[in-house]
Amino acid sequence: MAFDSQVSSPVGPPGTAAVMNTYRRFPVTFTHGRGCWLWDRQGDRYMDCVAGVAVCSLGHSDPVLQQALSEQLGRLQHVSNLYFTPEQAELATWITANSPMDAVFFCNSGAEANEAAIKLARKHGRCKRGIEQARIVTARASFHGRTMASLSATGQPKYHQGFTPLVEGFHYVDYNDFPAIKQCIDRLDAQGPAVAAVLLEPLQGEGGVRPGDPGVFAALRQLCDQRGILLILDEVQVGMGRTGQLWGHQHLGIEPDAMTMAKGLGGGFPIGALAVKHHCDVFQPGDHASTFGGNSLACRAALTMAAELERRRLLTHVQQRGEQLRRGLEELVVGFPKLCASARGWGLIQGLVLREGGPSAAQVTQACLQQKLLVVPAGAQVVRLVPPLTISEAEINTALMRLRTALGGLGA
Ligand SMILES: *Cc1c(COP(=O)(O)O)cnc(C)c1O
Repeated sequence: MAFDSQVSSPVGPPGTAAVMNTYRRFPVTFTHGRGCWLWDRQGDRYMDCVAGVAVCSLGHSDPVLQQALSEQLGRLQHVSNLYFTPEQAELATWITANSPMDAVFFCNSGAEANEAAIKLARKHGRCKRGIEQARIVTARASFHGRTMASLSATGQPKYHQGFTPLVEGFHYVDYNDFPAIKQCIDRLDAQGPAVAAVLLEPLQGEGGVRPGDPGVFAALRQLCDQRGILLILDEVQVGMGRTGQLWGHQHLGIEPDAMTMAKGLGGGFPIGALAVKHHCDVFQPGDHASTFGGNSLACRAALTMAAELERRRLLTHVQQRGEQLRRGLEELVVGFPKLCASARGWGLIQGLVLREGGPSAAQVTQACLQQKLLVVPAGAQVVRLVPPLTISEAEINTALMRLRTALGGLGA
């Protein structure tokens, strides 16, 4: 280690130079948080409409989550998947009782959950349909993670740049375009079954807060049923109450064959999962594994999230606060017609769509930071708001006021 790595970075805390430079970070260091608020090193307070990118659904330092995790730490943290634990069985039972799914595999992140789904799709295609070289159809502007297979599933060339060869077998179509999806499947299946699965987000998060079209998903569901193709939904960002329904697919009126989840599942503690229906539960002992996956502490975090969603009636709260946020954003669209084009989203994942040629999402995000409001871009032209699900009516008004000031500073 060179001594000059001790030199503090101009913006980060001492030691920042020793952290690999993989992130373009905003010049602020947070030291503590409470609810929807974060404090930086100077003691300045920020309204948090990012929530660790749709992760901290109960806000920061939630007392109930703190208590539950402290107790769990005092009892059992990790024993590996060589053995059973009550927490993992209890969480799998909650997920299957509260979704159309029948069984769950646990891992630690969204990318890993999608890796598991991709392996499942390939094995299902091989075992049940005799597909030797499985094809998986995904959408352009999708986001499924940064590991090699989930990156290959992600239909955004900018993330692929420099990392070829990609994992084979992924084919991209436009989101919400059923004729294009069908045409792609027909082409791939022309010489016999080749398409093992279609993998889509119910609402594209990173790709621009673009909700799925129920008509498209209904037609796709029917096509997949006819052909024996798995319809797998990536619920990593929208699952676990974010949209005002427990799962994003409830907005689409269809059930997937399998779904992945992660971000909000543990309320800030890392945990991911793949949930499947019986008919595609093709994994056998030895097929897939994760050392940390579903350990007692992680499962306790998710069990606590699940219990608090119910106890605090958060789905109804998210519907109401989501409507309030959406109305506020629509007023901003009217108030700043030169900057803003529209607002879209479900519940507490909302996007403010900016006009091309005006300030970018990155510039608006910067301007918000000046107003001590945290938001996050979703692509070049969409400002995404994903606050804690516990955000109050007054806090949403504060966020909207700060966003209005930020937009005002960028020109009417
Ligand atoms: C964030 C995200 C992922 C990746 O999750 P990680 O935990 O960062 O690996 C995958 N899919 C969707 C839809 C996401 O939003």
